[in-house]
Amino acid sequence: MKITDLKCAVIGNNPVVRINTDEGIYGLGEVEASKSYLKPHVLFYKDRILGQDPTDVERVMLNIRRLGSFKPWGSAVSAIEMALWDIAGKAVGAPVYKLLGGKIRDRVRVYNGAVRFPMEGEQSPENYAKNMQQMKDAPQKFSIIKQGLAFHGGRITESPKHFYGTHQAGPFHANRGPLSERGLNYIVDCIRAMKEVCGDEVGLALDLGPGFLVPDARRLAQAVEDLNVAWLEDMLTGDYVPYVSADHYREVTQSTSTPIHTGEQIYLRHNFQDLIEKRAVDVIGPDPCDIGGIAELKWVAEYADMHGILMAPHGVLDGLLGLAALVQVAATLPQNYIAFEYPTGQPEWWYDIVTGLPDPIVVDSHIAVWDAPGMGVDLIAEEARRYLREEDADFFD
Ligand SMILES: [Mg+2]
Repeated sequence: MKITDLKCAVIGNNPVVRINTDEGIYGLGEVEASKSYLKPHVLFYKDRILGQDPTDVERVMLNIRRLGSFKPWGSAVSAIEMALWDIAGKAVGAPVYKLLGGKIRDRVRVYNGAVRFPMEGEQSPENYAKNMQQMKDAPQKFSIIKQGLAFHGGRITESPKHFYGTHQAGPFHANRGPLSERGLNYIVDCIRAMKEVCGDEVGLALDLGPGFLVPDARRLAQAVEDLNVAWLEDMLTGDYVPYVSADHYREVTQSTSTPIHTGEQIYLRHNFQDLIEKRAVDVIGPDPCDIGGIAELKWVAEYADMHGILMAPHGVLDGLLGLAALVQVAATLPQNYIAFEYPTGQPEWWYDIVTGLPDPIVVDSHIAVWDAPGMGVDLIAEEARRYLREEDADFFD
């Protein structure tokens, strides 16, 4: 089998990758909804994979893996990798999890990072608690819920009472600096209020950065030890930070019983090596759409397990094709697996253009692993066409 074409269409906000072959089998992959600008980057790889056998996934990857980097520059490579696995599975009539070594679970646990309700009023502990109650009551019955706070989606840096640094307006978490005692107390109060809602029925994970300095991260982790939270995510580095700072994480992790988590922006196993070998965090959260694909994620999960580190893959913006990839790989991950972050289809019409997903998708915080060949999902061309941009009109040809 040979690759004859690599295409990319931006559908909604998600760049979708399609690899065509000379045998009529095609594969699909998806890039996060926050990266609609990546289409040219996907197409950059076209000449490097044309003519190769897509079922030798690793051989194809040798040509392009070196040409990616930390988030967002690992996304195109990752989406191509998923499309290759999709083809490889279809070629032998088997679900992708079989090609990754087989599943060790029939249902995969997911956690909530995407099913959101607008918070009413200011970001007070009371309003965080009310918002948490809404998420706890959601029909998916999530067993772990993650909330953004502090430097991540919180507005703490806008308040000179809470933040000693200089506030930077704009996206991509530009703020970093020292918190005041009042700022730290405010974060602890918000976590405590949410934890009262969660009880010990629902795990509470907090996405907090990047932006903390080491002493503040240490103080916060120690201050919430009695609350037994699921994890504190990305305090020091994280989303869109192109380095890891394993030694800094190690210092925080070793100082506390609170589980410390990072990894969503990290590209390739090599960049997890320090974190894992130094046991610098308790939980890692690579995203298959950023790390370099699903096989890359599995390799890292196995290595982490050998070092006593848990896995909670990121995925909030991976879309419905990305969801399928997460299900396939999560079914095969070792026993250090906690749950992956469940992505939703946005806009809502994404659910009308994808076939192969169960309905409802999440039952009791789990997704049943399906057995259709490849990733087991497909775009319904007749439905999806109307959402294509003019320049992508031949996407399904
Ligand atoms: Mg995060």
